[in-house]
Amino acid sequence: MKDLREAKGVTLPVHRVSTGLGEGEEAVRWTVKCPASQHVVDQGTCETCPHLEHVQRNVAGPEAISCHPQVRPPPPPPGEAYDPPLTSLLEHPRVDELMTQDVYCVSEEMLAEELAELFATRKVSGVPVVDEYERLVGVVSRTDLLRASDEEENTPVLHPERAGATASELMNASPVVVREGTTVPHAAAVMAAANVHRVLVVSPEGTVVGVLSAMDIVRWVARKSCDAV
Ligand code: SF4
Repeated sequence: MKDLREAKGVTLPVHRVSTGLGEGEEAVRWTVKCPASQHVVDQGTCETCPHLEHVQRNVAGPEAISCHPQVRPPPPPPGEAYDPPLTSLLEHPRVDELMTQDVYCVSEEMLAEELAELFATRKVSGVPVVDEYERLVGVVSRTDLLRASDEEENTPVLHPERAGATASELMNASPVVVREGTTVPHAAAVMAAANVHRVLVVSPEGTVVGVLSAMDIVRWVARKSCDAV
């Protein structure tokens, strides 16, 4: 049997999922897209994985890992081959191949004043809210928080009625999400049905592992079109 250590190694980027806890405090989770499990895993999982070769670090933390993953496609049922629809489904990329994996979240306790500052500095339209176990519980959007007239002038100011409220009081508790492993066409259908330009990608445990935007899909379609010419 072939020694797995002889398999070609891969170097994988480590992504940062930050959670603002309020008063400038931040919790950081480092994630890696594991080619063996086809899931986004915590980088700590790699530390105990027998396939790990090396962790590359910089001053901010882990930057990349090198490993020799054992990647096998899932076998079809005994005596059967994949039928054409499933084969064509497997040909579609999954959202985790296109999504942005560096995500900034906030805790449920973060106050409206800090959220307003966040929107002013990060220029984002919404931010995921996570619970103490880092599971997604909602999304606070810029428009929930800031006065519309000030927003038009690009000088975001907290709406007076929102002052002192927490993220959990301000959030939409039914955000549009897809699970990692969802195909891109399915995610596009979800976004179109919900009339949104971006969707959060969550793990089976409910933690945020990425964000997929309409522009990510447009870029993918453009690449496919160029390849086909
Ligand atoms: S070290 Fe192990 S868990 Fe981490 S990405 Fe490689 S195969 Fe996956």
